[in-house]
Amino acid sequence: MLERLRKYLSPIAQLGETHYSTVFPLVGTLFFCVLLEIYAFMIARDPDAVGLLAIFVFVALIIYFAFRDGRKGGFIATAITIGYYFYIIRSRAYQGQQLVEGVETTVILGFLYLFLAVVIGWLKETIDQLIERESDEKRRLQNVIEQLPVGIIITDANGVIVQANNKINHILGMDVPIGFQVGKENFIVSKLRNKLTTPSQSPLAQTLVSGKPIVGKEFTVIRPDKKEVVVRVSASAIQNRTGKIIAAASIISDITQQKELEERKDDFINMASHELKTPITSMNLYVDVLTKYLHKYKDEKSESMLVNIKRQTGKLQKIISDLLDVSRIQTGKLTYTKEEFRLDKLVEEIIETLQDATKGQTISLRKKTPIIVYADRFRIYQVVTNMITNAIKYSPETKEIVVEVKRLDGKAQVSVKDTGIGIARDQQKRIFERLYQVGDTHVKTFPGFGMGLHISNEIIKRHKGAIWVESEKGKGSTFYFTLPLAKK
Ligand code: ADP
Repeated sequence: MLERLRKYLSPIAQLGETHYSTVFPLVGTLFFCVLLEIYAFMIARDPDAVGLLAIFVFVALIIYFAFRDGRKGGFIATAITIGYYFYIIRSRAYQGQQLVEGVETTVILGFLYLFLAVVIGWLKETIDQLIERESDEKRRLQNVIEQLPVGIIITDANGVIVQANNKINHILGMDVPIGFQVGKENFIVSKLRNKLTTPSQSPLAQTLVSGKPIVGKEFTVIRPDKKEVVVRVSASAIQNRTGKIIAAASIISDITQQKELEERKDDFINMASHELKTPITSMNLYVDVLTKYLHKYKDEKSESMLVNIKRQTGKLQKIISDLLDVSRIQTGKLTYTKEEFRLDKLVEEIIETLQDATKGQTISLRKKTPIIVYADRFRIYQVVTNMITNAIKYSPETKEIVVEVKRLDGKAQVSVKDTGIGIARDQQKRIFERLYQVGDTHVKTFPGFGMGLHISNEIIKRHKGAIWVESEKGKGSTFYFTLPLAKK
């Protein structure tokens, strides 16, 4: 109640308020006239005691009302003041010189009061218009933000949340706390790759520090009602014309359903590959038995057919084991059994095996120094095999594929060089993504699924190594990977 009265009386609280009161300045000024009369007749007991005091009181009142209620408030206070002055002249029965001076003073003061009322009232009205225009802009922005189908959070340059839309409140199951500073504390519990996030991992905080946009980070948010939702967050710092960061905005979308669908798809692939694995393994075994059996009868035609069947089932087995690996990577279930072994020997063995099955291309190994690494032998075998088979596959015209194993900067480095079709620069990073294959407008002549390099990338990353390609379209590619050396 008291707070409301204080707000009603304070001219500052009325800034931006364009509904000006008539009654308040009218009653307020009259009230002070009555007060002054009471003072003159009952306290000072001198009818002329109000003179100077009245000037101070009414100047203050006119400023106050003009500032609170605009020019209208100022005019009303001025009119009543002038009226009161004439009332004084009449009620005190001024005569002769006193009457002339009284009227003169009233007229001069009247103009002065009017001037004050106009200037201050106009100032107040201008401020109100400016404030209204600004809040109009804000309202329009808020409207736009509310209509967007994604969650939005906006902070100022210090990371203090200044705006958020309803959609984000809906996604998070709580109201985003306006005025909360991101980067120091989290206002909601969330996880990034199964680990609780620290406040500095907030995309808004990060973009404010670096000035660079953060794109498509996925978090699992644990809502106050304990429901878990997966969100994709992008954030960007907003700069003014001079490049100074003035705010940051983030866009948050709920991808829980999409994730569930992806998980179901991965589960399906996993299950299907497992189911396919068993019959193919037994088919392979039967082919082996049959080959041995037919050998006795020297039936060359049937034997060559069996070789073909064996080759095809081998291909099938490879596809299935790749599918299984991809789904294991997806679910974080790809495990590694590390041991010390000679990388150069492993590469040599692989080359021997692949050379046997390759006609027309020579695979040569450069540098044969012993290099021992501590890694998962089978997984590294997979990476090297994939790189060399790719080199063979994607360079049908090449005569020689050069493999090099060497020690460089305290690491083991393997490279596979071909002079085949090459890879355009913009696609060189993408070939390590899941199921990515270089798109060509020509008819597709190279069979494959784009799983090999994705698996290799994952394996090498898990070994704390690096994998990359140097390539020029039409001229050939060199694939590299590094591994930490075994500690002595
Ligand atoms: P796949 O070979 O089964 O399609 P990979 O993951 O091994 O899958 O390779 C991904 C893509 O990278 C290939 O589809 C091919 O477009 C490109 N690529 C890989 N190795 C080479 C290479 N040596 N030369 C040219 N392109 C290559």
